[in-house]
Amino acid sequence: MADSVADCLFCSIVAGRIPADLVYQDADVVAFNDIAPKAPVHVLVIPRRHFTDIRELAKDPAAAASVLAGIDAVAGERGLEYFTTIFNTGAESGQTVLHVHAHVLSGSGQFWAHAKSA
Ligand code: AMP
Ligand code: ZN
Repeated sequence: MADSVADCLFCSIVAGRIPADLVYQDADVVAFNDIAPKAPVHVLVIPRRHFTDIRELAKDPAAAASVLAGIDAVAGERGLEYFTTIFNTGAESGQTVLHVHAHVLSGSGQFWAHAKSA
Protein backbone atom coordinates (compact mmCIF):
# COMPACT_ATOMS: atom_id res chain seq x y z
CA MET A 1 0.00 0.00 0.00
CA ALA A 2 1.35 3.41 -1.01
CA ASP A 3 1.84 5.85 1.85
CA SER A 4 -0.08 8.47 -0.12
CA VAL A 5 -2.57 8.25 -3.01
CA ALA A 6 -2.66 11.16 -5.46
CA ASP A 7 -6.42 11.45 -5.92
CA CYS A 8 -7.36 10.70 -2.28
CA LEU A 9 -9.16 13.58 -0.53
CA PHE A 10 -7.77 12.77 2.91
CA CYS A 11 -4.20 12.25 1.62
CA SER A 12 -4.58 15.76 0.16
CA ILE A 13 -5.61 17.09 3.58
CA VAL A 14 -2.60 15.35 5.19
CA ALA A 15 -0.33 16.94 2.56
CA GLY A 16 -1.89 20.38 3.11
CA ARG A 17 -3.14 20.62 -0.48
CA ILE A 18 -6.73 20.89 0.75
CA PRO A 19 -7.48 22.93 3.90
CA ALA A 20 -9.11 21.35 6.94
CA ASP A 21 -10.15 22.59 10.37
CA LEU A 22 -7.47 20.69 12.30
CA VAL A 23 -8.14 19.81 15.93
CA TYR A 24 -5.15 17.52 16.60
CA GLN A 25 -2.10 16.16 14.82
CA ASP A 26 1.00 14.18 15.63
CA ALA A 27 3.59 12.21 13.67
CA ASP A 28 1.12 9.45 12.77
CA VAL A 29 -2.40 10.91 12.67
CA VAL A 30 -4.38 14.03 11.79
CA ALA A 31 -7.78 14.95 13.24
CA PHE A 32 -10.11 17.61 11.82
CA ASN A 33 -13.71 18.72 12.07
CA ASP A 34 -16.10 17.01 9.66
CA ILE A 35 -17.23 19.44 6.96
CA ALA A 36 -20.86 18.28 7.40
CA PRO A 37 -21.17 17.55 11.13
CA LYS A 38 -23.78 15.02 12.28
CA ALA A 39 -23.42 16.01 15.96
CA PRO A 40 -22.22 19.09 17.91
CA VAL A 41 -18.78 17.43 18.03
CA HIS A 42 -17.90 15.51 14.86
CA VAL A 43 -14.18 14.97 14.38
CA LEU A 44 -12.50 12.67 11.86
CA VAL A 45 -9.29 10.93 12.95
CA ILE A 46 -7.12 9.56 10.14
CA PRO A 47 -3.67 8.00 9.82
CA ARG A 48 -1.24 10.10 7.79
CA ARG A 49 -0.50 7.00 5.72
CA HIS A 50 -3.14 5.82 3.29
CA PHE A 51 -5.16 2.74 4.25
CA THR A 52 -8.44 2.12 2.46
CA ASP A 53 -10.44 0.94 5.43
CA ILE A 54 -10.27 -0.58 8.90
CA ARG A 55 -9.52 -4.05 7.49
CA GLU A 56 -6.39 -2.77 5.77
CA LEU A 57 -5.45 -0.77 8.84
CA ALA A 58 -5.74 -3.89 10.99
CA LYS A 59 -2.89 -5.47 9.03
CA ASP A 60 -0.55 -2.80 10.50
CA PRO A 61 -1.00 -2.99 14.29
CA ALA A 62 1.26 -0.01 14.97
CA ALA A 63 -0.74 2.20 12.60
CA ALA A 64 -4.00 0.91 14.09
CA ALA A 65 -2.76 1.72 17.58
CA SER A 66 -1.83 5.23 16.45
CA VAL A 67 -5.40 5.85 15.30
CA LEU A 68 -6.74 4.69 18.67
CA ALA A 69 -4.23 6.97 20.39
CA GLY A 70 -5.41 9.82 18.13
CA ILE A 71 -9.02 9.21 19.15
CA ASP A 72 -7.92 9.28 22.79
CA ALA A 73 -5.99 12.52 22.22
CA VAL A 74 -9.03 14.19 20.62
CA ALA A 75 -11.24 13.05 23.52
CA GLY A 76 -8.71 14.44 25.99
CA GLU A 77 -8.11 17.74 24.21
CA ARG A 78 -11.82 18.37 23.64
CA GLY A 79 -12.67 17.23 27.19
CA LEU A 80 -15.22 14.73 25.93
CA GLU A 81 -16.99 12.93 28.75
CA TYR A 82 -18.63 10.53 26.31
CA PHE A 83 -18.45 9.89 22.61
CA THR A 84 -19.36 7.43 19.86
CA THR A 85 -16.76 6.17 17.37
CA ILE A 86 -17.72 4.86 13.93
CA PHE A 87 -15.63 3.37 11.11
CA ASN A 88 -17.75 2.90 8.00
CA THR A 89 -16.35 0.10 5.82
CA GLY A 90 -17.49 -0.37 2.24
CA ALA A 91 -19.73 1.80 0.08
CA GLU A 92 -22.90 0.06 1.24
CA SER A 93 -22.14 1.06 4.83
CA GLY A 94 -21.94 4.67 3.70
CA GLN A 95 -18.15 4.90 3.34
CA THR A 96 -17.59 7.70 0.83
CA VAL A 97 -13.89 8.45 1.39
CA LEU A 98 -11.63 5.46 0.82
CA HIS A 99 -8.98 6.51 3.36
CA VAL A 100 -9.76 4.98 6.74
CA HIS A 101 -11.24 7.47 9.20
CA ALA A 102 -12.76 7.28 12.64
CA HIS A 103 -15.82 9.45 13.18
CA VAL A 104 -15.78 10.76 16.78
CA LEU A 105 -19.24 12.06 17.67
CA SER A 106 -20.39 13.74 20.86
CA GLY A 107 -22.70 16.37 22.26
CA SER A 108 -26.07 14.98 21.22
CA GLY A 109 -26.55 12.20 23.75
CA GLN A 110 -26.60 8.57 22.66
CA PHE A 111 -25.73 8.89 18.97
CA TRP A 112 -26.13 5.18 18.27
CA ALA A 113 -29.47 4.99 20.08
CA HIS A 114 -30.70 7.87 17.91
CA ALA A 115 -29.38 6.17 14.75
CA LYS A 116 -31.16 2.91 15.65
CA SER A 117 -34.51 4.63 16.16
CA ALA A 118 -34.23 6.82 13.04
P1 AMP B 1 -17.77 8.35 5.36
O1 AMP B 1 -19.13 8.62 4.80
O2 AMP B 1 -17.75 7.43 6.55
O3 AMP B 1 -16.77 7.94 4.29
O4 AMP B 1 -17.28 9.74 5.95
C1 AMP B 1 -16.68 10.73 5.17
C2 AMP B 1 -16.86 12.01 5.91
O5 AMP B 1 -15.96 12.97 5.38
C3 AMP B 1 -18.26 12.60 5.81
O6 AMP B 1 -18.82 12.72 7.12
C4 AMP B 1 -18.03 13.96 5.15
O7 AMP B 1 -18.89 14.97 5.67
C5 AMP B 1 -16.57 14.22 5.47
N1 AMP B 1 -15.87 15.11 4.55
C6 AMP B 1 -15.89 15.07 3.21
N2 AMP B 1 -15.07 16.01 2.71
C7 AMP B 1 -14.51 16.65 3.76
C8 AMP B 1 -13.59 17.71 3.91
N3 AMP B 1 -13.04 18.35 2.83
N4 AMP B 1 -13.23 18.12 5.15
C9 AMP B 1 -13.78 17.51 6.23
N5 AMP B 1 -14.64 16.48 6.17
C10 AMP B 1 -15.02 16.07 4.95
ZN1 ZN C 1 -5.53 8.61 1.34
